[in-house]
Amino acid sequence: MSISEIQTRITSQSKRSNRAPESTRLIAVSKVQPIERVRAVVESGHRLFGENKVQEAAGKWPALREEFGDIDVHLLGPLQTNKARQAMELFQAIHSVDRPKLATTLARLKDELGHCPDLFIQINTGREDQKAGIAIEDADDFIAEVRALNLPLVGLMCIPPANEEPSLHFALLRKIAQRNDLSELSMGMSGDFESAVAQGATYVRVGSAVFGERDYG
Ligand SMILES: *Cc1c(COP(=O)(O)O)cnc(C)c1O
Repeated sequence: MSISEIQTRITSQSKRSNRAPESTRLIAVSKVQPIERVRAVVESGHRLFGENKVQEAAGKWPALREEFGDIDVHLLGPLQTNKARQAMELFQAIHSVDRPKLATTLARLKDELGHCPDLFIQINTGREDQKAGIAIEDADDFIAEVRALNLPLVGLMCIPPANEEPSLHFALLRKIAQRNDLSELSMGMSGDFESAVAQGATYVRVGSAVFGERDYG
């Protein structure tokens, strides 16, 4: 699918769900994709991308920004504290804040650098051992903790388990965000972004549907 077809599907779903189409932004997830494909999407005018790894993003986006001007790139994958500084210099948002140690590191670096990307807390809505994210029952406390550090917390993110109905996870994420007064919801990927829009996503993260299957070879 082209990026404009995906945008059209987001718009249609927004209308069906009585939401303003511009209230959901499309993050084109460019991790592991051949650079020609990424360039083509930048050339088409898209300016919001997602990456999973600091190193990979650092090797890709500075040159593209040099050539095309401002491009927003969001970090979606787990962040090690020793890469936090580099991440804060590279990304406009971090969707994967998932532990107190990372939050305190970000707070220290925010004071040092004088700025901080928008932050999302990742919630492990599926209670999966192999997945990052804060446990559901710890979410409210961790949200309060991040706010107490004066960090620019804007919303929540989740990745539903592969074999479960995603809309239940999206609805749960929305509920946690609502009761904590958080306005941004990062949820929905290639297979389920329409369902995420229906449940109130303000960011959908779509990779393979935009760029084609990833080749990890
Ligand atoms: C890779 C990835 C995506 C995009 O996945 P697709 O299924 O290719 O759309 C979205 N979010 C996160 C956190 C990812 O790691």
